[in-house]
Formats: sequence, structure tokens, C-alpha cells
Amino acid sequence: MTRQRALIARILRDASKHLTAEEIYHLARQSMPFIAVGTVYRNLKLMTEEGELRRIETAGGPVHYDANRSPHGHLVCRVCGRLEDLAVPYLTPYLSRCTGESVPVYDLRVDWICPACRSLSAGERPPSCINQLCTYSK
Ligand SMILES: [Zn+2]
Ligand SMILES: [Zn+2]
Repeated sequence: MTRQRALIARILRDASKHLTAEEIYHLARQSMPFIAVGTVYRNLKLMTEEGELRRIETAGGPVHYDANRSPHGHLVCRVCGRLEDLAVPYLTPYLSRCTGESVPVYDLRVDWICPACRSLSAGERPPSCINQLCTYSK
């Protein structure tokens, strides 16, 4: 593994949140001032292809990278674009039964309005099914 790739992996692990390529590049330069932006993008692509990272696309927002490989979905705020993990513990065994795969790989994105944005626009409420999923994850 190259030093650059090890650095990117460490940055994502330490961040304990989802980062954009831009944020990763900015943080990488603090340890490796001469790292090229192309190197960061190339490594992110490679690490995603090899299953080390997950790529999370959001409508209209930047792509984020996730080092957490355990099965989970994502909540994306329709107002501020904030991205959060969504634990759906019942989904993994359910999908295993449906597909026959012991560890199914899935990509679940739930668009919602986060609590901070909800308090700003009281008129808009996320669908009730989102609230239901939230109680599952607790
Ligand atoms: Zn929000
Ligand atoms: Zn995540």
C-alpha cells in the first residue's frame, strides 16, 4: 500500500464522519504538503473499487466517502444536505433471507429534513415512515 493511500485511509477512519474528496485533500495536505489532488482522487477511486470505502451520492450535493463498511443506510437532509448514518438492524437479516447472501451489500439513502432544519420550517414534516425507521435504530 502506498503512503498516500495509508494516509487517506487514516484520515477517513479518524474523522468518524463522511468526508468529501475536497475535505480529504485538505486534511491530507496537513501531513503531506506536496500530495497532488489527482493522487487523492485516484486513490479514492481505487479504494472504492476494492470495497475499502463506500461512495455516497446525494442529489445535487458533493460525493462523500465512508470508511464504515458495516451495513448501514444514510439519511440526507433535503434542506442543508447533512449526511448521517442510519442503522437499520432488521434490514440485514431480512435481505439475507431474500437474497440468500449471508452479508448482503445494499445502498439505502433516505431523504429527510434533519431536526435542525425542521425546527426552522415547521410547515414541512418528513414522512412518518422515516420516524418509524428512527425508532428501529435506537
Ligand atoms: Zn438539515
Ligand atoms: Zn455511513
